[in-house]
Amino acid sequence: MLSNLLLKAAESKKLERQISKNKLTRGLVSRFVAGVTLEEAIKATKELNKDGIDVSLDLLGESVFDLAESTRATDQYIETIEAIAEHVPGSTVSVKLSQLGIAVDVAACAKNLERLFEAGEQNGVVVEVDMEHSSVGRDTMDLFRKALPRYPQSRMAIQAALRSTPEDLETFTEVKPRLRLVKGAYDEPLHRAQQDRKEVTAQYLHLTRYVLANCPDPAFGTHDDICIDFAKQAAKDAGVDKKDYEFQMLYGVRRDLQKELVRDGYRVRVYLPFGTQWYPYLMRRMAERPANLLFFLRSLVGG
Ligand SMILES: Cc1cc2nc3c(=O)[nH]c(=O)nc-3n(C[C@H](O)[C@H](O)[C@H](O)COP(=O)(O)OP(=O)(O)OC[C@H]3O[C@@H](n4cnc5c(N)ncnc54)[C@H](O)[C@@H]3O)c2cc1C
Repeated sequence: MLSNLLLKAAESKKLERQISKNKLTRGLVSRFVAGVTLEEAIKATKELNKDGIDVSLDLLGESVFDLAESTRATDQYIETIEAIAEHVPGSTVSVKLSQLGIAVDVAACAKNLERLFEAGEQNGVVVEVDMEHSSVGRDTMDLFRKALPRYPQSRMAIQAALRSTPEDLETFTEVKPRLRLVKGAYDEPLHRAQQDRKEVTAQYLHLTRYVLANCPDPAFGTHDDICIDFAKQAAKDAGVDKKDYEFQMLYGVRRDLQKELVRDGYRVRVYLPFGTQWYPYLMRRMAERPANLLFFLRSLVGG
């Protein structure tokens, strides 16, 4: 209930304006967001690399309804890709297609995405496509599917909560995709997505076996011990080596576990958001964990 309210709040432009201006939220923002500038993001990436942790850089921004803005975001992403190649090779970028204009003009978004894939290929940087709300999910998957034969190294997120996911996976016939399996962070209607946490986790475990058996180099985007332990065991059962899949976690979440997994020989990649447009991202993080909301409210009242 509370998390649904927070997910609705994540979509409110009015709240975004009010909360983004509030200086008191900065402490909380810096826990989940690595910085405002690309330089700050590269610096944070280097710190994580020192601990043997890989990174995926996410330039914050989503739900763009102005094509000029989506072109600017694409340019900034290309700049990020070039900076990765120069300073922190091995990192990837993660992008939301609503930031590249998918909700306004699918063809224009496809061109922006093509520019990113091209830049990624030229610079040896993998582009990962986030999966957003189901209102843009279908188009996101279609664009990714079309580009995949030319860019088989790219990766796309899939959401265990969505009822359509198992069928969607069967539509990748030509090339099996590299995927990031996540539970799903958006407020979806009951007919589209499971709402019960236990059911979502059960579907996550089921899909874990599927991606290990059918897709190359899967990534498990989760902080949940049940899902992590299951993936380790399922990989072992399927004869998939620790080096042939990875765990992905969000910047600032379960840092000890990230290091512990690296110590145990697993690959770990941290999803590292940077930029000024942190509001919807932060609200989704609040919705995932009520304790975060407490920090947030305290910071708003200056406590
Ligand atoms: C790398 C990565 C990429 C993602 N990409 C997408 C995407 O493209 N599309 C999408 O819909 N969703 C994405 N998500 C979000 C995902 O869908 C979940 O909402 C989120 O990961 C929480 O689910 P969980 O599996 O960690 O399990 P949960 O059951 O929510 O959490 C398990 C435990 O992890 C810790 N934890 C989880 N979340 C937080 C938090 N915010 N703050 C502090 N502790 C926390 C807590 O200890 C909690 O008990 C991504 C997540 C990750 C890790």
